[in-house]
Amino acid sequence: MRITTLPFLAGAVLAGVLVPAAGAQRAVNMTAMHEEIARRTAVVMPRVIAWRRDIHEHPELSGDEVRTAALVAAHLRALGIEVKTGVGGHGVVGVLRGGKPGPVVALRADMDALPVEELVDLPFKSTVRASYRGQSVGVMHACGHDNHVAVLMGAAEVLAGMKASLPGTVKFIFQPAEEGAPNGEGGAAPMIREGVLESPKVDAIFGLHVFPGPLGSVGYRVGPLLAASNSFTLTVRGRQTHGAVPWAGVDPIVVGSQIVMGLQTIISRQIDITAVPAIITVGAINGGIRSNIIPDSVVMIGTIRTFDATQRRTIFANMKRTAEEIARSGGATATFVVDSGYPVTVNDTALTNQMLPTMRWAAGGAGAGLRPLVTGAEDFSYFQEKVPGMFVMLGVTPADRDPAKVAANHSPYFFADEAALPNGVKVMAALAAGFLASGGRAASAVGTAGH
Ligand SMILES: [Zn+2]
Ligand SMILES: [Zn+2]
Repeated sequence: MRITTLPFLAGAVLAGVLVPAAGAQRAVNMTAMHEEIARRTAVVMPRVIAWRRDIHEHPELSGDEVRTAALVAAHLRALGIEVKTGVGGHGVVGVLRGGKPGPVVALRADMDALPVEELVDLPFKSTVRASYRGQSVGVMHACGHDNHVAVLMGAAEVLAGMKASLPGTVKFIFQPAEEGAPNGEGGAAPMIREGVLESPKVDAIFGLHVFPGPLGSVGYRVGPLLAASNSFTLTVRGRQTHGAVPWAGVDPIVVGSQIVMGLQTIISRQIDITAVPAIITVGAINGGIRSNIIPDSVVMIGTIRTFDATQRRTIFANMKRTAEEIARSGGATATFVVDSGYPVTVNDTALTNQMLPTMRWAAGGAGAGLRPLVTGAEDFSYFQEKVPGMFVMLGVTPADRDPAKVAANHSPYFFADEAALPNGVKVMAALAAGFLASGGRAASAVGTAGH
């Protein structure tokens, strides 16, 4: 709310005050650059759509992105880009060295799909099945990462065509396992461990995600954008007995049910929800094998979403206490284990302000604007812990539908309107080219634009 008018303020400050001498010249260059990006985007779009449909029809679960990675690597090589494969799993990294010296900017796309059976009726609908945690599942690009891959392949082609005039280097990061590999770890952290942000050293990174939103619009935030995400496992141990003789044992199903309800009162009764929101979700409960046996134990798994580190610690402590004390009241025990999770996705203030004119150009009539907080999480946050980064949201809701009412990401009905993708290619290409053309990241935040 405080920064509703920021886009216009920051843009004016940047153009008029920050770089007054170079401003006019740079504005002309930026205009020519934007026109070239638009022209090259129009040329590559039919193939972006074809790639997107191909990838959508052949989705691969986190950690299995073999086909997608091969498609990406072949395309980058054909563009004359230096390619490294097998980075942090099936990650692919391309390095495009411009014709002039300058900073290094990275563009990131995630490649993995989800264990969701597609229910959208498309000519390129996924019918792929795979094994996930021992279960046979449908596989679908229900988070829209197919769009991210195709958009970044398109942006790579646009930027490769401008290679001679680029003042710096563009690194293309095609990341596996954003949704978390079966072992729980996402793909960003292993890519960073394997040096994806080094040699050449990355000065700034940009990422994009498709979301329900006005078609082709570009959404952003200064500061926190997406939540921190932590998975937990809660094991309730009772004592096995015959289902007809419950008093002879301890029923972990009844105790577990009480714990599920107890956990919800942490958010509703123990957290200041006027500060930042938080979420606790139990996503699976497993216990028992047949109708007349009370089992020994129940295991539940779930996720916690927070936007503040202190609040996150409080929630962990209260969950542990709630589970243990409720279990004790029923004569059972509870063990609460929480993983290290994904951090909050936080957009760098100076970088976001600096790139506002670029986002507004790329969004065109669809508009670039501030987004509300998103309780989803992104392991793009790991890159942002290392280098200044900005993550943007591309609206993909068909023009005749209400973004508030369409199926969200991860739904079997999630649908991305391809008409938004030209703006996706434009924003990614222009963020990279614009960042290089401005000589890197502005030294400090502009004016009072901080979060
Ligand atoms: Zn997702
Ligand atoms: Zn996603």
